[in-house]
Amino acid sequence: MRKLLRKIFLIDLIEGLWVTFRYQQPKYIYTEQYPAQRPKIAERFRGAPRLNINPETGETLCIACNLCALACPENLIVVGSERDEKTRRKVLTTFTYDISRCMFCGLCEDACPVDALELTQDFELASYSREGAIWDRQMLEEGPRPTKYPW
Ligand code: SF4
Ligand code: SF4
Repeated sequence: MRKLLRKIFLIDLIEGLWVTFRYQQPKYIYTEQYPAQRPKIAERFRGAPRLNINPETGETLCIACNLCALACPENLIVVGSERDEKTRRKVLTTFTYDISRCMFCGLCEDACPVDALELTQDFELASYSREGAIWDRQMLEEGPRPTKYPW
């Protein structure tokens, strides 16, 4: 009889709805309001690669040694260089990095002897094409520029 009454008066449904409404208070909302609010990134998160430049001279820190490309298990880094006839040193000309194949393991970063290559905390890596996932030297030096929404 009790079960029947519960069914007739939709007690289970009402109890369920009550639980739902109890959690409507803002302090119980767990949905991240991205992109209005940017999430806090873990300290050790490895995201978008960056090719660092010397802030004083504006020149790249990369010495074109190719060690990052050799360390990468995915072979996705291509370093282009030419020899400076005066100094006999290699000079970086191009640098490409295919983020669509990167697993963000950090081996390239660890291999770099001059801290030129760094995996940053930037996490917005989406692009509208596959070609957009191949970052050139300029993109690596300037970093991604995600769309900022006005709200
Ligand atoms: S993070 Fe790993 S997979 Fe990505 S480029 Fe560096 S070494 Fe290669
Ligand atoms: S390991 Fe560092 S210095 Fe060498 S090519 Fe890569 S980014 Fe440049």
